[in-house]
Amino acid sequence: DRAVDALTRLVRDVPDFPEPGVLFKDIAPLLADGPGFAAVVAALADLGRDDAGRPAVDKVVGMEARGFILAAPVAVALGVGFVPVRKAGKLPHDTHQVAYALEYGEAVLELHQDAFAPGERVLVIDDVLATGGTARATCELVRRCGAEPVAFAVLLELGFLSGREQLTDVPVTALTTT
Ligand code: 5GP
Repeated sequence: DRAVDALTRLVRDVPDFPEPGVLFKDIAPLLADGPGFAAVVAALADLGRDDAGRPAVDKVVGMEARGFILAAPVAVALGVGFVPVRKAGKLPHDTHQVAYALEYGEAVLELHQDAFAPGERVLVIDDVLATGGTARATCELVRRCGAEPVAFAVLLELGFLSGREQLTDVPVTALTTT
């Protein structure tokens, strides 16, 4: 599988980033590789299609910042719209907000209230699933905006952090797991 091969070769481990003791998965080498980037975008887009190959979602949502880089080309590949989830204070129009706990402190994510038509089906994409807090908050936000998160997908799942347990009601797909 080309996407799995690219992820295996082109995601780099960076020790002690952003703080001592954390092994950070750096996707920059993957994004910088044309065929590798194309392979992972194609694999993610397949998750938004039905068995007949037709788009099965109405929107693709990506989380700031690396989620944007993946979700936008996936939306184009599916022929549907892209919606950004942003950190607090960045979106200019009326928003809904969800706060969630970080290891130290709290983060707030926002979506435009009018980002979706009622009942739209949404594919949510990020680069890495770690503790699952970001994914859970995003799916809650999508629902608060009147749409339905039907799938959550990442390039890489850090399995030892059990993040998928945060997402009991949305199917989670990781192209690779460590
Ligand atoms: P969580 O909320 O699941 O703990 O963290 C996931 C979020 O943090 C994602 O938005 C992801 O971009 C970022 N993240 C956490 N750990 C890593 C990592 O090792 N590599 C990358 N690229 N992102 C990470």
